[in-house]
Amino acid sequence: MDRRTISAAQQLAAAHALTGGPVGGALFAPALPMETTATDGSRQRTLKNAIHCSGIGLHSGERATMTLHPAEENTGIVFRRSDIGGRGAVIPARWDRVVETTLCTTLGNEDGVKVCTVEHLMSAFAGLGIDNVVVEVKGPEVPIMDGSAAPFVFLIECAGIVQQAAPRRAIEVMRPVRIRDGAATVSLAPAEEWRVTCAIEFESAVIGRQTAAMTVAPAAYRTEIARARTFGFHHEVVQLIESGLARGGSMENAVVVSGDRVLNEEGLRYEDEFVRHKVLDAIGDLYLAGGPFLAAFDGMRPGHRLNNNLLRALFADPSAWRWTALDERREPRRRAAAS
Ligand SMILES: [Zn+2]
Repeated sequence: MDRRTISAAQQLAAAHALTGGPVGGALFAPALPMETTATDGSRQRTLKNAIHCSGIGLHSGERATMTLHPAEENTGIVFRRSDIGGRGAVIPARWDRVVETTLCTTLGNEDGVKVCTVEHLMSAFAGLGIDNVVVEVKGPEVPIMDGSAAPFVFLIECAGIVQQAAPRRAIEVMRPVRIRDGAATVSLAPAEEWRVTCAIEFESAVIGRQTAAMTVAPAAYRTEIARARTFGFHHEVVQLIESGLARGGSMENAVVVSGDRVLNEEGLRYEDEFVRHKVLDAIGDLYLAGGPFLAAFDGMRPGHRLNNNLLRALFADPSAWRWTALDERREPRRRAAAS
């Protein structure tokens, strides 16, 4: 009885309502719960209710459906294919389960069962500080929705967020790790908070050189990052569709650039939407580490493959990181502030 269903139109209206864009009616604007800011971030969190949504699969172009379920402490984010039975249906959302990074991030398990396009949903979980969810998908794809994380943010906030008893742990980076691939570089360095900085450079005048940085926290995430859509160049999108990939790709779920122009009639949601989407992607890719970070991520032309390789490099070196309970960390600082 507590399962709720949100239509695509409602999600779109809500995505606009999040940051004051055009809204079809006032129905959805005032009702968003703000529980995300009511907790201190030191305890794990899950959803209050299960919630369902459906949309188009980016790869197949077919209808993809998904249900987010509350999960017990220390479950983490776990995908479950409802169209496949038994243990083989379960795929933990972890960096070492990433089996493909072309076009999107694909997770797979030892039985060869896969789920793709997980990155924007993972980003929404990371951005809102959600630790434990079972994501049930019917079929191999998470719906692409509008190509951003805003519909997932709305979905999560409609389901409600509850704090659990178990402490929240972060991955504290102890020394810098860096990976380079041609002109692209990604790195993690020690920091007191989870900070993500990205820079991109394209010849197209509508993109040019853009830099964006954020400290990952729910309020800033939902207004500054969540609405940024994925983007592609027109000739690449045509190529992808012609070769049978991205059958569901369209201007409904991506910003499409041709030369120095944005082809989408509605234009951009942020002037620097492109680099903000790179930040959104990086947050989602990094959340496959299994928790939030106490580290500064820096990405020059980052991508899903490079981000995943960075996690592999980090975890290959046990001296480069450690788990830290977030409440334990806070105590000494509170005491220091009081004295
Ligand atoms: Zn993306």
